[in-house]
Amino acid sequence: MASLKIEDLFVNYGHVQALKGVSMTAEHGAITAVLGANGSGKSTLLSAVMGVARPRRGRVLLDDRDITRLSPTATARSGIGLVPEGRALFPSLSVNEHFLLGARKDLAGGTESDQLAYLYDLFPALRGREDTRAVMLSGGEQQMVAIGRALISGPKVLMLDEPSLGLAPKLIDQVLMLVERLRNEGTTIVLIEQNARAALEIADHAYVLHAGTVQVSGEAAALTQEDAVERAYLGG
Ligand code: ATP
Repeated sequence: MASLKIEDLFVNYGHVQALKGVSMTAEHGAITAVLGANGSGKSTLLSAVMGVARPRRGRVLLDDRDITRLSPTATARSGIGLVPEGRALFPSLSVNEHFLLGARKDLAGGTESDQLAYLYDLFPALRGREDTRAVMLSGGEQQMVAIGRALISGPKVLMLDEPSLGLAPKLIDQVLMLVERLRNEGTTIVLIEQNARAALEIADHAYVLHAGTVQVSGEAAALTQEDAVERAYLGG
């Protein structure tokens, strides 16, 4: 069982208050969407969880363990996987090389070849393309590689930063179906998206950030029914 709790988080960049007391819970085996317009604080929240941005106040708890002050490397080791915005791939490295970058030998989850077999089962489109360089892949395939690199270490919580960005609608659907499958297999998911409609279709819970605070939160299905999300985006 893995859950991620964020308690009353404050983050500043100099005089800019990017997060002003954000609290949220990503429950075990659920998809928690973090929505919000440009500049609302989504990336800052993710940076604070990963140990990159240093919170001025507040805590981040993974299964009740306080991970607030851990380095980014220690945060990743504690069980948080990140699929960064824009994928952050190395153009000249192959699909397999990306996966092996994320692989670690000290985690349960079988041998390296078991882990690779699992990934190629998850991403049939990448089968037979193990040695293809990332630069030769489509946007959707690159997103699969970025997700696979984060999954291979067997994270308890997987955070995805705008996975739909720059993808054609059909590919967005594929990526979101994959995220649903990972949730169904027991991974706790935090899905950061500007594309609220797409994210709410698969999310269990959602939080909408506006100007560094949680403006609206609740069951995703309920948020789809009302216009609260749109109002939050518009700052109403
Ligand atoms: P986007 O979708 O554009 O990435 P976001 O919701 O992720 O937006 P953040 O990037 O977290 O929002 O930004 C939150 C606030 O902090 C904004 O006002 C932004 O201008 C400010 N900010 C972000 N990074 C920095 C930085 N390095 N220095 C100063 N201010 C920053």
